[in-house]
Parts: sequence; structure tokens; C-alpha cells
Amino acid sequence: MNSPKKLVLLGATGSIGDSTLKVIRKHPDKIKLIGISAHTQAEKLSSIADEFQVPHAILTSEPKVNLSFPSCTELRTGLKSLEDLACLGDADIIVIAVVGTVGLLPTLAALKSGKDVVLANKESLVVGGKLVTRTAEKYGATIIPADSEHNAVFQCIQNQPQRSIESIILTASGGPFRNLPINQLDQVTIKQALCHPNWSMGKKITVDSATMANKGLELIEARWLFDLKPEQLEVVIHPPSIVHAIVRFVDGCCLAQMTPPSMTFAMQNAILFPERHLGIEPSLDFSKSLDLSFSPPSLDRYPCLRLAKDAMEQDNSAPLVFNAANEIAVDAFLRNRIGFLDIPRIIEDTLEKSDFIKTESIEELISLDAESRRIASIEIDHIR
Ligand code: NDP
Ligand code: MG
Repeated sequence: MNSPKKLVLLGATGSIGDSTLKVIRKHPDKIKLIGISAHTQAEKLSSIADEFQVPHAILTSEPKVNLSFPSCTELRTGLKSLEDLACLGDADIIVIAVVGTVGLLPTLAALKSGKDVVLANKESLVVGGKLVTRTAEKYGATIIPADSEHNAVFQCIQNQPQRSIESIILTASGGPFRNLPINQLDQVTIKQALCHPNWSMGKKITVDSATMANKGLELIEARWLFDLKPEQLEVVIHPPSIVHAIVRFVDGCCLAQMTPPSMTFAMQNAILFPERHLGIEPSLDFSKSLDLSFSPPSLDRYPCLRLAKDAMEQDNSAPLVFNAANEIAVDAFLRNRIGFLDIPRIIEDTLEKSDFIKTESIEELISLDAESRRIASIEIDHIR
């Protein structure tokens, strides 16, 4: 029997972190956890370190209390340590499950060390798509998509040549406000936006799902992961979130991938790839009727999707600006500083006030990201 693969989990305390830990608990003979990170949840990090006897742990924010960790664990603090953990010598697989642009540098570090990278963090591809995929190529590293739609595409295209793909169709639930009259969208509360009908996820991505900025980010993510042109990417509303993506081939045949709406399926597939083993949760039950309805999204209801598509089509740093403005706006919404419909307003205004360039330089990307956040923050101050 092969020895277990050694896995590092960045963002161990989040929702994707939880799903990853379930996979490891189910398959301790196949996966060993050797590194974990958290930003603020020190106690949860410590209890994960204890349960899995993890040798390396990182807390990226300043600790607020005295930290107590098991004796087997070496604890470090600070954001820079995240990059060191991402290229830990012993590791075979790095799972990038931190939220936001902060995922970019560790993703690059992991790829440069030639590791297999299970990528849940979509923001890193939106900000540095070409740089990320080129780095993977240059260092012979593999990116295995963990986002459910992208993992679904990844499964459908195995052993299919790139030229056989006509387009890919990402499904979207439509979020909690799919049927709300559009003129009531400006009154929705934080609590309502955080109440996703199907998925249990972190706060930022849950708000992104309500605005459909998430699907916009996913289009851009898919473009880089699968080396497609913007016109080869489609979105369709599929409320039950059972079909995660559909690949349309040049001969007209469409392949879809289906599971119940839980991230444990995609995470297990990505982590154990190319092997398949017993799953954690029950599969679909076809003895009951299943809703497989699909309909096109309304760009009036979901202006963030329109803005993301426009940004993607520009082939420059517009997606980076979209992402930075979205992160700032969602944070302000979650702090009750702006309303729900201010999110697309802030993004649109920031895009209008930004200059776009084509670059693969990490320094330029970081400085553009900072500038976009500065512009978006000023826009928020104007709204208040
Ligand atoms: P969560 O908010 O649940 O978790 C985020 C994780 O990142 C936590 O471990 C958190 O630490 C850590 N973190 C937060 N801010 C920082 C920071 N500034 N620096 C370093 N670490 C930080 O997010 P999700 O698990 O929902 O999402 C993670 C990523 O995966 C996102 O990019 C999301 O878009 C993507 N994704 C998520 C899906 C889901 O179902 N949740 C589905 C597909 C993709 P702490 O909690 O300790 O503060
Ligand atoms: Mg997704």
C-alpha cells in the first residue's frame, strides 16, 4: 500500500477548510495533514492541530490572546509565513482555501515548487490568471480546480483534447433573490443576503452568490483554468444546484457533472485525483423526482455579472479591478456601511475611474490591486 500523500491546507478554519478536513477524516490512509493556516480563529486552528497532530501551523493575523498549541505543532505568525507553508518541502498537495486576493502569492509559491495545487481560491486566478497558469506550466505543477463548477468541467474533459471543446456552461443557483421583485433589491438585509438557498459557505462568497459576482469571477476563473476565449463561456440559472457545469463539445454533445450541493464531492475529487474512493455523503437519489430546470440569467437583476463579463472581454487588468472593488464593497456591505445595490455601483464606478494595463508582473498586479482598493474605498465614502 502507498504511504499517504502529505497535504497542506491554507485556510483550514473556513468552509472549504471544513470540507477538506472531512475528506481527510474519511481517508486517513490516503491523506496526511502536515500544515494548516488560519487568519483569526486561533482556537479552531489549535483544535485542528491537535486532532490531526499537525506539525506546522500558521496564524496570519496578530494573535489577540495567549495561544496554546499541542507540543507536536510548530506555530508561526504573519502573512509572509503563508508562502513558506505553501512550498513546504515535504508536501505533495497544497490546498488553497483562503478567501480573497491574499491567495495569489501562496498559490504562486506552491506552483513554483512544482506541487499539485488544489485551488479553491478563485480570486488568485481572477487577479493573476495568465501569470498563475504560466507559472504552473513553467514549473511543471498541476492546478486541480476545487470550485464545484470548475471541478465538474475538469471531470468532464478528462482525456478530451482541447480542440474538441466548443464551450462550457457554468450553472448558478441565482441566490436568495432570484425571484424577488427587482425594485425590492435595494432593501435586502445582510441576514437575507447570507441565507443561501442551497450552499453553506463563507460570508464573502455567499454575498457574491446573491449578487452573482461569484459567477462572474468563476467565468474569469474558467477562462484561465481551461484556456478558453470569453465567447466560449456561458452561464445558466439552475436553482437546485445539482448540475454543476456542462461541457459542450464541437460535435454537439454535452456532458454534465451532477452531485447534491455540497463541497465535499468536489474537494474529495480534487484531493484524491485521479483516484475515486468512497464518498462522504450520499449521492443523488433518482428514485425521487429531480428538478433539472435551466434558464438564462437576467443581467438587469444581476449587474455584477454584466460588469464581470465586460471586464473579462477586455483582456487586460479590468478583472483585477472588478475583483478588488468587489472585495471592498462586499466588506463594506457586511459591515452595514453600504446597501446591497451599492455593491455593483461601487464596482462600476471603480472600473470607470481606473486605467487598465496588460501585465504579468506580480509587482504591477499588487500595485494595481492596491490602487483599485483605494478608489473603491473613496467611492464608498462618497455613498455614505
Ligand atoms: P471562509 O470565509 O469560510 O474561510 C476563509 C479562510 O481564509 C479562513 O480559514 C480564514 O481564516 C482565512 N482568511 C480570511 N482572510 C484571510 C487573510 N486576509 N489572510 C489569510 N487567510 C485569511 O471562505 P470559504 O471557505 O467559503 O472560501 C474560501 C475560498 O474558496 C474563496 O476564495 C471562495 O471563493 C472559494 N470557494 C468557496 C466555496 C465554498 O463552498 N465555501 C466554493 C467554491 C470556491 P479565519 O477564519 O481564521 O479568519
Ligand atoms: Mg462555484
